[in-house]
Amino acid sequence: MSFDLTTRLSERRTAHLYRQRPHLQSPQAPLVRVDGQPLLAFCSNDYLGLANHPEVITAMQQGAAKWGVGGGASHLVIGHSSPHHELEEALAEFTGRPRALLFSTGYMANLATVTALVGRGDTVLEDRVNHASLLDAGLLSGARFSRYLHNDAASLANRLDKASGNCLVVTDGVFSMDGDLADLPALCAEAKKKDAWLLVDDAHGFGPLGATGGGIVEHFGLGLEDVQVLIGTLGKGFGTAGAFVAGSEELIETLIQFARPYIYTTSQPPAVACATLKSLELLRSEGWRREHLNKLIARFRQGAAEIGLSLMDSFTPIQPILIGDSARALQLSAMLRERGLLVTAIRPPTVPAGSARLRVTLSAAHSEAQLEQLLEALADCWPLLAVPESMEAVHA
Ligand SMILES: *Cc1c(COP(=O)(O)O)cnc(C)c1O
Repeated sequence: MSFDLTTRLSERRTAHLYRQRPHLQSPQAPLVRVDGQPLLAFCSNDYLGLANHPEVITAMQQGAAKWGVGGGASHLVIGHSSPHHELEEALAEFTGRPRALLFSTGYMANLATVTALVGRGDTVLEDRVNHASLLDAGLLSGARFSRYLHNDAASLANRLDKASGNCLVVTDGVFSMDGDLADLPALCAEAKKKDAWLLVDDAHGFGPLGATGGGIVEHFGLGLEDVQVLIGTLGKGFGTAGAFVAGSEELIETLIQFARPYIYTTSQPPAVACATLKSLELLRSEGWRREHLNKLIARFRQGAAEIGLSLMDSFTPIQPILIGDSARALQLSAMLRERGLLVTAIRPPTVPAGSARLRVTLSAAHSEAQLEQLLEALADCWPLLAVPESMEAVHA
């Protein structure tokens, strides 16, 4: 008996599912350097262009000068410093919730929250295309775990009828690989009928969505009585790192007492919290970033439709081009790269089998001219992709 990793790896390669990490040699921006090549990128989640913003950088530098570099300990020991506390208060005010709790990553926030709220004898119901961290959290919780059909309130209702114990309904706000919005009003209504709680992970909604960037709950006008558990991540629209859970006083105290991924880890560097305080200010006040982004989204959808690409039902900065076959998705990505454009192919198991895609993401940092460059390249490449001979040429 031994670990046959060679076979496992070669099978993955044969299935066109092998992953490679593009080596980024410049900061996040539309124009990047990757593996020695200058490229125009459309695959970052830095939707508002804050990851490399001078004022956010300065806030982090000043934060490090004042607070040092490391968090030093867990929040419960001696790692909860003034910038963490101030950021939690600002995030509570921003989300209109009584309190917020800061985490080092979204993955951990999701594991912590779901496992602290439900366990054996309870039920957790998840959208079948939820982010991996939410699905993992549901499985880890030990609660009865069931997935309902994507964004389907009737399918949720059906599962709610069979639920036992405390029941937590879990959904992405903006679905990370499709870009569509959870039908929160309908999901809320079903959850309320059964006294279930609704947890919304709006990693991709905070920043781009809502009048002041407050995400899907601001978009739909939903309060604490509708969405009891609201999660946001800080590494996407906010441009920094970490995550937060917002909700009632009791929810936050429960997490501090019982959420193991919160308790047994070092706090994030305080300087990161200083940077996020600045990016939160820019995210809320600079509405022009959302306006520009919405213009780019509308233009992309119009241009893509003219080329005949199959887009998904999304008005968010996530604009996937559906391909289906993993090998063809990789080929289109490679053809774009030859033309100086970086758009990553997303393949199973990140997305369901047979739904490989190019996940185009737009940012307020993109110019209209850069978007036209993408559309021109897609117009060139798309017809070539359909022809089998040229696919072989790309392989050779
Ligand atoms: C990216 C993402 C996460 C993970 O957040 P990190 O801070 O990157 O760990 C969680 N949920 C969703 C929906 C995400 O897209």
